[in-house]
Amino acid sequence: MSFTNGKDIMVFVETNENEPVKVALEVISEASKLAKGENVNLVGLVIGEDTEKTAEIYAKAGVNKVIVVKEESKDVEILANIISEIAKKYDPSLLLMGATLIGKDLAAVVAKKCETACVTDVNAISIDGDEILFTAPVYGGTLLNDVVIKAEGLKMATIRPGSFKKDELSEETAEVIEETVNVSKDLKTVIKDIIKEAGESVNLEEAEIVVVGGRGMGNKENFELIHELAKVVGGVVGGTRPVTEDGWISRSQQVGQSGKIVTPKLYIGAGVSGAIQHLSGITGSDYIVAINKDEDAQIFDVADVGIVGDAMKVLPLMIEEIKKIKEQN
Ligand SMILES: Cc1cc2nc3c(=O)[nH]c(=O)nc-3n(C[C@H](O)[C@H](O)[C@H](O)COP(=O)(O)OP(=O)(O)OC[C@H]3O[C@@H](n4cnc5c(N)ncnc54)[C@H](O)[C@@H]3O)c2cc1C
Repeated sequence: MSFTNGKDIMVFVETNENEPVKVALEVISEASKLAKGENVNLVGLVIGEDTEKTAEIYAKAGVNKVIVVKEESKDVEILANIISEIAKKYDPSLLLMGATLIGKDLAAVVAKKCETACVTDVNAISIDGDEILFTAPVYGGTLLNDVVIKAEGLKMATIRPGSFKKDELSEETAEVIEETVNVSKDLKTVIKDIIKEAGESVNLEEAEIVVVGGRGMGNKENFELIHELAKVVGGVVGGTRPVTEDGWISRSQQVGQSGKIVTPKLYIGAGVSGAIQHLSGITGSDYIVAINKDEDAQIFDVADVGIVGDAMKVLPLMIEEIKKIKEQN
């Protein structure tokens, strides 16, 4: 006996412009280890307009079977209908998806439709005898909870971005199965348009370098230093909640528990205190640099490099030095 009972494991993760989002590949890497350990197939579910490219990447990332459903809509109700119909047909033991903004919405609806439970924001998975144990942060990340789903049949979880490392892509191929799902168009919500944030060329959640400014930047004019630093290092700008609430940058750029979870190679934070609600969105970063004038600021507890100083003096120096280094190369 095992938690799969010989049934396959399924992964659904949304795509962005017909490419799997970063967390998709992280989920596949972890799910692939689970599937191998249980000797079952890992099945990837791709829904979109141009699914061929994504299906190929999924195969190389480690899935054995790819189910593709051609559907142009990004509406959560439509996607949830498709995922639940496919889950009912293929009857996997476990269905995983990324805890992205869309993933969080989808998981709740799919769990209801499949009449099962879903553990959200999971950052570790382990096997305990014949049960699967999901670890997820609670109380703003102050405690870690180990959760077992007691419901029979399908079990579900959303995976927090940055929790697992994505494997290198291989040259593997996978069986591709095209499915058609007739979904009801009788919807309670309708997406009229998708508007990209002006100047947002890279999604914060996908960015390799993120530069965050906090309330310590003082005002919108000083916050320009954050934009300038981001420009010289090729990073994407984010902010803490007070900064987005004050309108220095847009709400979509908020990083943290109620904003975006970032997992860059480099995070630079200036004038950020390091409140738990912010830290819970940045701890998946590989390298954290913090600038704060208070040597006891909480952000220094998680920083790899901490600079105690006035951001208005430190940032211009950093920008100048980085520009010089770039000119030399
Ligand atoms: C349910 C809930 C959800 C939340 N979600 C989020 C979230 O998603 N993201 C988020 O960020 N917050 C979130 N918050 C808010 C969070 O609790 C903090 O209030 C917020 O993160 C603090 O932002 P800050 O660090 O910019 O500001 P502050 O806490 O005011 O810190 C400013 C820092 O700047 C430093 N400073 C001041 N002047 C300078 C200077 N000249 N140079 C260098 N340093 C300087 C100060 O020493 C201080 O440490 C949430 C709160 C709740 C209750």
